[in-house]
Amino acid sequence: TRNKMTFEGTPRERTFICVKPDSVQRGLIGDIIKRFEQKGFKLVAMKMMQASEELLKAHYEEHAAKPFFPPLVKYMGSGPLVPMVWEGQGVVKMGRMILGETNPLDDQPGTIRGDYSIRMAKNVAHGSDAVESAKREISLWFTDSELNSWSRCDDKWIYE
Ligand code: UDP
Repeated sequence: TRNKMTFEGTPRERTFICVKPDSVQRGLIGDIIKRFEQKGFKLVAMKMMQASEELLKAHYEEHAAKPFFPPLVKYMGSGPLVPMVWEGQGVVKMGRMILGETNPLDDQPGTIRGDYSIRMAKNVAHGSDAVESAKREISLWFTDSELNSWSRCDDKWIYE
């Protein structure tokens, strides 16, 4: 049967994607955006910023005790990055598939990390791993007023 996922009520699932400082430097922002856009997902927030150490430590709090935590926070603070929020049906899980594995050497070509990176310490982009962590991350990086509610004019051709 037909579900309610039509253009009038496109799913509101959201994920947090962040273009990491290495890919900003390497000119990959556009390609990363393009992969989500062409799939049919909707961009609801985006900005360029230098993240504070405090924000990065909060973002990666689950890794606070790991040996890679200090270099990770340093890497993420090493230059401007581009946090984004994307919306659509299944966007959290599909976002991880578009991104690829944490270790880029485990990736198939075709994923963002598989196409552009070799080391975990420079793995190009971040994506939330679950709906709940996405909510936490979105509220860390964006205020409610920065999240745009809008309809893509082609939603009908993607969802109906
Ligand atoms: N990371 C690293 N070394 C490791 C594991 C992770 O440098 O051994 C970095 C890597 O940049 C990764 C981030 O820490 O993206 C967060 O790790 P997580 O396991 O949450 O991976 P992700 O969810 O980003 O795939």
